[in-house]
Amino acid sequence: MPELPEVETIRAALDPELAGATVIEAWGHPSAKFAQAPAAIGRRFVSVGRRGKYLLADLSSPPDPHGAQRRTPHTELGPPADSQLVVHLGMTGVLSLRPSRTPGTSHMPPEGDHVRAWWALDDRRTLVFSDVRRFGRLAVVAHGDYSGLPTLAALGPEPFDPMFSPSLLRAGVNATSRTIKTALLSQRIVAGLGNIYVDESLWRARIDPRRRTGLGRHRAEALHGAIVDVLAEAVDEGGTTLRDYRMLDGSSGEHQHRLEVYGRAGLPCLRCGSTLRSAVVDARTTVWCGSCQR
Ligand SMILES: [Zn+2]
Repeated sequence: MPELPEVETIRAALDPELAGATVIEAWGHPSAKFAQAPAAIGRRFVSVGRRGKYLLADLSSPPDPHGAQRRTPHTELGPPADSQLVVHLGMTGVLSLRPSRTPGTSHMPPEGDHVRAWWALDDRRTLVFSDVRRFGRLAVVAHGDYSGLPTLAALGPEPFDPMFSPSLLRAGVNATSRTIKTALLSQRIVAGLGNIYVDESLWRARIDPRRRTGLGRHRAEALHGAIVDVLAEAVDEGGTTLRDYRMLDGSSGEHQHRLEVYGRAGLPCLRCGSTLRSAVVDARTTVWCGSCQR
């Protein structure tokens, strides 16, 4: 499942590619998760941002059919972004940019690859959203209005935001009686972590993922540093490709070669040499070292 580093890698690649392109045709699978894709028709991509595991593409308003734009003084900033295309890749979602099939004429839906939505652009390319297992979703919303997307609306701070501090992390973890793994997966204490990077962060901070008791100040500082470092390293390497995740150009991330604990159950701990354990913690397969994580 794409987590923050994978979504950030896609965002950074999409932003320069989409900026300035206008959606001229679009299609979404009729299920509620994808049906809003055509609401972006006539709108121009301004920039592509991210919150947690959500891509947030700012769209400018369509030109006024009555010529109101000509009365508005031209500014270098262009028209204000007034809506957003929100995309969550779910477990198996992939975004790709492909040459439009019939340049200059009507765009036909791209075939195959479990296509759930597409947006044909005025530069003869088509943004395609494929999703094998259909846990992904998209929406076109008024800018910043996430009332229909409660998970996005309730996200905790971004891990690279200075607002995300050791004391905030400690307060969030200590306010719940659930395991620390579940608390970190909730997205409410900090946004963007999933199964891989929670296990990696807890291993690096020497914290048992099943822990239900609160963290002291020093352990909270260690966990805060581990989360920020683990995510930053994974972003630098283009994310982790285990199965479906690909970068925009179709290539794999590189961070799967650097994972210290995820996927290594039964192998020696890289810190103390003990055999790494694996168990299901709150429905997620979890790997940790029983000797040096407490
Ligand atoms: Zn160990």
